[in-house]
Amino acid sequence: MQNRIERLRKKMKECGLDCALVTGLANIRYLSGFTSCDATVLVTDKSCCLFTDFRYTIQAAEQTKGYEIIEPQAGKLTESIKEIMERDGCGRCAFEENLLTVGLYERMRALPVTFVPWGDALSALRMLKTPAEIESLQRAQTLADRSFSELLGRMHPGMTEREVVAELNYIGARLGSEGASFDPIVGSGPNGAMCHAVPSDRRLRDGDLVVLDFGCIVDGYHSDMTRTVAVGSVSDECRRIYDIVLEAHERALRALTPGITGKELDAVARDYIAEQGYGACFGHSLGHGFGLEIHEQPTASVRSETVFEPGMTITIEPGIYVEGLCGVRIEDCCVVTETGYRDFVSSAKELLVIS
Ligand code: ZN
Ligand code: ZN
Repeated sequence: MQNRIERLRKKMKECGLDCALVTGLANIRYLSGFTSCDATVLVTDKSCCLFTDFRYTIQAAEQTKGYEIIEPQAGKLTESIKEIMERDGCGRCAFEENLLTVGLYERMRALPVTFVPWGDALSALRMLKTPAEIESLQRAQTLADRSFSELLGRMHPGMTEREVVAELNYIGARLGSEGASFDPIVGSGPNGAMCHAVPSDRRLRDGDLVVLDFGCIVDGYHSDMTRTVAVGSVSDECRRIYDIVLEAHERALRALTPGITGKELDAVARDYIAEQGYGACFGHSLGHGFGLEIHEQPTASVRSETVFEPGMTITIEPGIYVEGLCGVRIEDCCVVTETGYRDFVSSAKELLVIS
């Protein structure tokens, strides 16, 4: 944790900032170890303070090291932060412009500092994962792989999409996941064409492709995988689409090495899908980083200039979505290594058939 604070302070200094007001829960957890949902952190060049209320002060003292735990009087958070800023002589303060509510910002404007939007820089601190973080991610994905394999034994035609979600959540929790990385996506038949389908009462039936996108959490770290399975026998077109997505996925994995940029990686899968005639049916990015949040920096997208380095996480998730017919997505979550990548996912990728 101390090392993280040092990196933050170094970056603050480079940018002429003398404090950072942190309100995003993932950044708070990363910088302090505190896991609760009610906290504000102020890191100055002299001190680290965590403001929380009576419900969490014991937990905060147990989970953090080197932090002053401050319990402001009800409604007096701004005053409390102001005291510390004055004590530590703060003038320019970083804040997370994408995470601060307008209401809180209005109150914070009374503080005696100049605010500098710095959200991306704060989140970028989390981009390179340590061996311990990588271990937690692997454990999270191992739970997801085990959940998937158990789910396959329980899925059957006639089951609704919502029942599949309930099974996934139950199996994951029973195996030890701290929760679902996000509400699982289960899209069967034509529903699969909605990349982020909301599970419905539609029943799985012969001829469906079913998109299953889900993840588990260990130590706060999120995994993310997608598999598409067949119910009974699927049409030739569905089968062809599956094979194209699989090939695009494997080509992108082979290209994943340090030095490649996000947009070069994205193009490997996108160009292949376009060559096969489905360019218009792949409307989202190839992948995203993951860690304490399910979506983190970097991204692999048409606009991403990020140069991949060892320690960065990225999902490889090409898809083809054909309205009225089906969706196919195959997703692995990986970390870049010195020589290429480590794939956290071990589940098979050949088209699995449920009957
Ligand atoms: Zn996913
Ligand atoms: Zn994903």
